[in-house]
Amino acid sequence: MDYFFDYTSQITNQFIDPKKRVFLFYILISILIATAWFMINKKLSLKKTLIKIFDKKIFFSKSAKSDYKIFLINQLIMMIVSPFLITQLTIATALYFYFHTIDWLSAGMFVGIAKIYIILSFTIFQFTIDDFSKYIVHRFMHKWPVLWALHKVHHSATVLTPMTVFRTHPLEGIIFSLRSAITQAIGISIFFYLFGNLVSLYTIVGVNIFVFVFNILGSNLRHSHIGIRYWKWLEYIFISPAQHQLHHSIAFEHHDKNFGAALAIWDWLFGSLHHSVEFETLHLGIKKNQHDATHNLKNLYLDPIHEIKKHIFNKIKKIKNKFNKIILKGRYINEV
Ligand SMILES: [Zn+2]
Ligand SMILES: [Zn+2]
Repeated sequence: MDYFFDYTSQITNQFIDPKKRVFLFYILISILIATAWFMINKKLSLKKTLIKIFDKKIFFSKSAKSDYKIFLINQLIMMIVSPFLITQLTIATALYFYFHTIDWLSAGMFVGIAKIYIILSFTIFQFTIDDFSKYIVHRFMHKWPVLWALHKVHHSATVLTPMTVFRTHPLEGIIFSLRSAITQAIGISIFFYLFGNLVSLYTIVGVNIFVFVFNILGSNLRHSHIGIRYWKWLEYIFISPAQHQLHHSIAFEHHDKNFGAALAIWDWLFGSLHHSVEFETLHLGIKKNQHDATHNLKNLYLDPIHEIKKHIFNKIKKIKNKFNKIILKGRYINEV
């Protein structure tokens, strides 16, 4: 019974906790932004706008239905797994003690600095390092075949809804929560070591102010059919909803573009930036003529595991073959 209670509160928490992407207030703001965009930019009436936003064909599609189910299953998996994952406090403590062993670093080196600067730089640092690590991990998710096998689950969505953010393989979920723990811990340990206990974050309703701003600016529209584009210059700095939608496109020229979460700067710096295009021109998913079986839960959860197993076996086979060749060569040289 307790487990049932924990599980239901874990689910509801996603919608009532301002730290979560699908916090209802953020969803509501996204709907308002979408309404304004359709009415002003596309000159639609209110009625047509609402029909467009709450498009039944999207929210009741096979793809969206699997998003909802994956959300429910993954929350349960994370509830079971998360007590076994290393926490940011453990990593931060280990790093904090490690810094004491570095000669050129001394604890509290910058304690005298005004509190306002410490808090401001900590808030910016935490947001930036978190966003950058998301970019790096996401890029590797596309680059390494073993990780792509997992990340494909997210890209197999053929329509996007705010719930598509949860359409991930649970192993990817674990990788991303470790990423979050490590990056938070790096910031916390460095700042507490150098600036002492004046360190804290600028927050709104308990959320880093930058994360809050990112969310009220319609972060939920990134996974949606509402292709809001920014001015070209702004898309070098912030990822627009339409830029992330393009990341989900099957077109060859859109492959491996726009890995960024909030900031587009990383994509710009490392050559993976692509400006947005009209949403209507995009075909979403992994490949053309993707059939319904891609939305089958059993396939979504088990196919990546089989694929990873295959990759590992192939790697082992290659290494074995290499060794055999070396041994044979050795024998040949000995015989000669
Ligand atoms: Zn991706
Ligand atoms: Zn996505």
